[in-house]
Amino acid sequence: MPKSSFVDFKAVKSAITMEHVLEHYDLMGQFKRSGDSLSGPCPIHKGDNPTQFRVSISKSIWNCFSECKSGGNVLDFIAKMENVSIHGAALKAIEWFGLDKEAMQAKTDDGDGTGQDTPKNNAVDAPTTPKKQAVVADANTPNPPLKFRLEKLAHDHPYLVERGLTLETIVDFGVGYCTKGMMAERIAIPIHNPEGQVVAYAGRWPGELSEGTPKYKVPQGFRKSLELFNLDRAIKEPQDLPLVVVEGFFGCMKLHQNGCRKVIALMGSSMSLAQEELIRKHTDRKSRVIVLLDEDEAGRAGREDIAGRLAKFVFVTIHALDTEGRQPDDLTPEEVAALLV
Ligand SMILES: [Zn+2]
Repeated sequence: MPKSSFVDFKAVKSAITMEHVLEHYDLMGQFKRSGDSLSGPCPIHKGDNPTQFRVSISKSIWNCFSECKSGGNVLDFIAKMENVSIHGAALKAIEWFGLDKEAMQAKTDDGDGTGQDTPKNNAVDAPTTPKKQAVVADANTPNPPLKFRLEKLAHDHPYLVERGLTLETIVDFGVGYCTKGMMAERIAIPIHNPEGQVVAYAGRWPGELSEGTPKYKVPQGFRKSLELFNLDRAIKEPQDLPLVVVEGFFGCMKLHQNGCRKVIALMGSSMSLAQEELIRKHTDRKSRVIVLLDEDEAGRAGREDIAGRLAKFVFVTIHALDTEGRQPDDLTPEEVAALLV
């Protein structure tokens, strides 16, 4: 009998991809997708050259051509990031992605490898789906609802005014400046699950961004890749209205303020598998989705990928903005109205 700490590295490796891991670290926004590869600054030695770190998406391997001068698979990456052994990395992956512990510990028996004649065997997309499905199902261990609320958030902070939000929108979304606790000195933005329960607060730094000050802070352990900001309210809007998908909290709140209430934010420029599933769950073949990301390199790369994936189950259009650097936040109420016709 294998010891209880025996981990089948191969099973763990095949259950997750580099994309999942980068998503876990919230790094996808820093990476540029091109064909089968992702490139960005190296998260291990924390470099800033945007091409020093490359990932092969299909092979799920990485390489740092700069300081680290090394590469490897998903587990090597987690081991380096967490400064633990491969065994430690595998245990972390099992925990983070909610992988089936038993399956990851069992010696590779012929559990499902034998050629049973299940009807699904002739599915066209057989080579990639089992992997993805395993992770989606398991990684969907939801973010638990918070047992507390941040109180006395200041609704009149200058930053909120600067971003063009009216008091009505600020109160409606429950955002405000927080003076103490986890989100101290930040604008706290509550994130709800589809059932409308608060699962986290994101904290936006309201001033100039300097080295070492992250723009957004989310609680440790919270997986934003499992949520879609404002989905709980968007799904209550009429079926025949298009669902608008934006990147950020402020774009979402601003569109809402300007008359587009069926809007959700990805909280980044990429769409996770879990987010894709959420959209699928709350739409049908007749649904329309408008992908409206920021007009910049990340936004353009993201929207192609997102639209391509959503097109398999809804009617999707990409809405490009007219000038470089423009964001959905800048749309006037007239432009928002035009978007929805
Ligand atoms: Zn490196």
